[in-house]
Amino acid sequence: MQHHFCPKSFPSTPKDIISDESRRKQILIVGAGASGLFAALSLKRMGVVNVTVLEASNDIGGRLKAVRPTSSDLTLDVGAEWIHSTDGSRVLNSMMEGLALDGDNDESNKVELITYQPKWYFGKRRSKLMTTIYKETKFKSATWYSWLKDNVYEKVKDNVELNSPVSEIRYNNKQEGGEKAVEVVLANGEIRTADVLICTVPLGILKQSIAKDRTSASASLQFNPALPIKLQEAIHAIDMPPGLRVLFQMKEKFYPDLTSANSLFTLLCNPNEMTLAYDATLGKDREENILAVVAIGNEHAGKRFGGMSQKKVGKEALRIVDDLFDGQGTVNLIGEPLVQDWSEEPFIRGTYTFPGSNRHRRTLGQSIGESGQVIFAGEHTSMKYYSLVPGAAYEGRRAALDAVGMMAD
Ligand SMILES: Cc1cc2nc3c(=O)[nH]c(=O)nc-3n(C[C@H](O)[C@H](O)[C@H](O)COP(=O)(O)OP(=O)(O)OC[C@H]3O[C@@H](n4cnc5c(N)ncnc54)[C@H](O)[C@@H]3O)c2cc1C
Repeated sequence: MQHHFCPKSFPSTPKDIISDESRRKQILIVGAGASGLFAALSLKRMGVVNVTVLEASNDIGGRLKAVRPTSSDLTLDVGAEWIHSTDGSRVLNSMMEGLALDGDNDESNKVELITYQPKWYFGKRRSKLMTTIYKETKFKSATWYSWLKDNVYEKVKDNVELNSPVSEIRYNNKQEGGEKAVEVVLANGEIRTADVLICTVPLGILKQSIAKDRTSASASLQFNPALPIKLQEAIHAIDMPPGLRVLFQMKEKFYPDLTSANSLFTLLCNPNEMTLAYDATLGKDREENILAVVAIGNEHAGKRFGGMSQKKVGKEALRIVDDLFDGQGTVNLIGEPLVQDWSEEPFIRGTYTFPGSNRHRRTLGQSIGESGQVIFAGEHTSMKYYSLVPGAAYEGRRAALDAVGMMAD
């Protein structure tokens, strides 16, 4: 079965299209995940020179993050991991289509992919149904993180400032005597100004910014004036549940390709809530045995792991492995589990957005400010491809075009 959870085409970003005046305008992008970096590259391609990406953490990628679970050179994604399409090369090519800069090498986007069609188990029972219908793509030795870094970040790295959390966005400023429409306050008190701001912070951060009790949320971002009520309602209405991934290095490969802790029936009824234990190196031709446990959703991650320390999360995930495989996890474990809990990331606060009403999602993607000078982008603003890396990239490209369109004379 062919399936593509990816836009068929991406917004075209014609080369050097804008006027000299627009070229000099200042654009700030908040967040250097897939959306923010695609926005920056699209603007560069269109000839905008004053673009700055402010990233709160000490690395780019956001929910794309790769780790080395052993002392070898193996790197694995602990955020986005799959290209949810049977034709991953087509997805990657179309994400990059029309974004070439002068001097780019056509070969740069080439990366080895593998077809991912695991044997599915539900507890101890094999499911022929899932094994037959489920097929998608994965990176062989690269990762989503390294792909974004090599293909997008490398081209805009001079525009990116790491360790620069934005604590306040002031918009609707009176534009007299060369004043800019937007002011951004960094956590260190520094103020930056811009004609247009593209805000790509995750929905989890927007939720914090409108929470009644903001005192506990040290990473919280404030909007001044407060976000419009309709937008606040949409932020509340769409869910971005907790989730985590734990990697275990094992002596023996005692586990099949993929085992679901949910029954087939419950997974088909609610494919968003899940706990899976799977061979993280399947098809990668590696010696290391790495077993991953992923738990996503309010029930599977929030209720089971919420409020635990990293050590306890590792222990609880090992308990799941032991339950599924008769204690083999504890017997085979080498070293400490590697835990990535996305709900605990101060600048992320969740995994990805779950479906919700189209009306609210449309509102999430609408610009605010008297002249629409604050533009929102990110996986959560995509109507059809929310929760996915290609959706985040699409929205970054769309936001870049909006920014230029708004500035057109
Ligand atoms: C466990 C997990 C598994 C997933 N699996 C897949 C998968 O297999 N395939 C797939 O396509 N997608 C998957 N996804 C979803 C995918 O990772 C996201 O949709 C995508 O990476 C979102 O990109 P983004 O740019 O919208 O947001 P982000 O990547 O979250 O980027 C937002 C950036 O904003 C920064 N930021 C936040 N607050 C501030 C601030 N105040 N100031 C400055 N910067 C700030 C953050 O640090 C971050 O870098 C998965 C996600 C998770 C968590």
